[in-house]
Amino acid sequence: MAASLVFRLHDRGPELVREVLLERGWEEYNEGEREEEDWNLYWRGSLFQTSQYHNLLPWQRLNHHPKTVGITRKDCLARNLRRMKATFGSALYDFSPTTFILPNDYTCFLAEYNRLRLARGTSVYWIVKPVDLSRGRGIFIFEDIKDLVYDCSVVIQRYISSSLLISGYKFDLRIYVCVKSFHPLTVYIHQEGLVRFATEKFNLSSLHNLYAHLTNTSINKFGPFYKTEKGRVGRGCKWTMSKFRHFLHSQQINELLLWQRINNIVTLTLLAIATSVPSCPNCVELFGFDILIDAKFKPWLLEVNYSPALTLDCQADISVKKKLVSDVIDMMNYTSTDSLRDRAYRKHRSDVTNHGNSETEAERQHSGETDVSSLTPDTQESEEAFTRPAASWKLPNIYSTKPVRITAEKTTGNGQNIPPVKVGDFIRTFPFNRATLKASQHELDIRTVLQEIQSLTGQLVSGKGHKMKSRREEKVTADKDADTDFDSLLWGPKDPPLISQCFKST
Ligand code: ADP
Repeated sequence: MAASLVFRLHDRGPELVREVLLERGWEEYNEGEREEEDWNLYWRGSLFQTSQYHNLLPWQRLNHHPKTVGITRKDCLARNLRRMKATFGSALYDFSPTTFILPNDYTCFLAEYNRLRLARGTSVYWIVKPVDLSRGRGIFIFEDIKDLVYDCSVVIQRYISSSLLISGYKFDLRIYVCVKSFHPLTVYIHQEGLVRFATEKFNLSSLHNLYAHLTNTSINKFGPFYKTEKGRVGRGCKWTMSKFRHFLHSQQINELLLWQRINNIVTLTLLAIATSVPSCPNCVELFGFDILIDAKFKPWLLEVNYSPALTLDCQADISVKKKLVSDVIDMMNYTSTDSLRDRAYRKHRSDVTNHGNSETEAERQHSGETDVSSLTPDTQESEEAFTRPAASWKLPNIYSTKPVRITAEKTTGNGQNIPPVKVGDFIRTFPFNRATLKASQHELDIRTVLQEIQSLTGQLVSGKGHKMKSRREEKVTADKDADTDFDSLLWGPKDPPLISQCFKST
């Protein structure tokens, strides 16, 4: 019989991951009882060491890609976005508030501070954040430079003082992004997400009041008004994204364009590191993107979290996060049991005790039916494959696999695999058409990707949908097996439409 899948949690958490995996019939790794490598999934809140990627065995998955710090640390994110803006222009890379990294950029900051002070009639505010802290720790806002004090490396960022408010309260969006692969870049965004509110009314004359200016739950759940009814916001400090969609319906805006702009922020941010992240097909990572929307409905990227909180503080958390974790596990493409790990260990044990391999051909065939296909080495049936040192295993490309619980992958006319359009409530947002699929296959062609993003966004802005659609239709007729097999949904709206259908309604 094939073995159950085994998960390993660092420091016994997060509890929600344990709960979801146990419900799915997985077993928890126990150091005393199992051998060092006898697990399928290692989930940790902190980052893995480089050696842990090198020593991965074919049946093992990690919940972080290597070297994503380029977007998850505030100073690295600022540097990378600045570089992308300098290389590719600010037309698309205009979603991050002006940021300086102190102490290095102090002189530049001072010049900008003085320029804005002289040029503008209205006040300009700045927010200071320690580069490697999270959950609102060490953050403060100031208007006058005499209030700027810091004793560690910080980013200083233009404070968005005109944020969109609901019943007078500030909020931001926590968007859950799953990067299935960086090579080729394959990105999914979850349909659900969270809206995180400040718990005191926004007020620029009390910059020190963190309950009014910061939307972190870790801060607001300790606020004096956390449990109070707060107008349309209600009690607590969170909404689900579904509830936010209802709110959006009452606003006179181009909703599709707002969702697409958020979607663009995610892709453009990931593009900033996509070529520098080493390929690791056995990693799938969940990121939390924090997006602030201003009064003109322009979305801004505040930061990217590599370990978004999976604690359950309220009903909104429960309805969003459990399904989210389950969908991330589906994204990893496991079957219900793992015969490969089991066989490797049985072989190893039998070698050690010098009893030879006791597995019969019948057993092997049986276990082959339930194999973790994505983790099968190239020399699938070769016994010596199981005894090779970890570094010599050929890690398979996860796109060469047959997914089990998820929508089946398709292949284009010229043999490119198209990742499923949906995995649970995750929607594939990149690649989103044939051009971006092609541009991401070998050497990532960032310029082509940017052109495609610009063109799609342009269509949503200008509402030239019908025209574009008929042009697309012409193209499809000309190239018969082209776009017909490449459907993409527009992430964001309830019952997301196919991107090609969006233009009907604009
Ligand atoms: P942390 O990692 O500590 O949570 P963030 O960058 O997410 O740091 O900032 C914490 C909170 O501060 C955000 O959730 C948001 O409410 C507020 N904030 C951060 N940057 C800005 C900004 N530039 N303009 C307006 N509000 C901001």
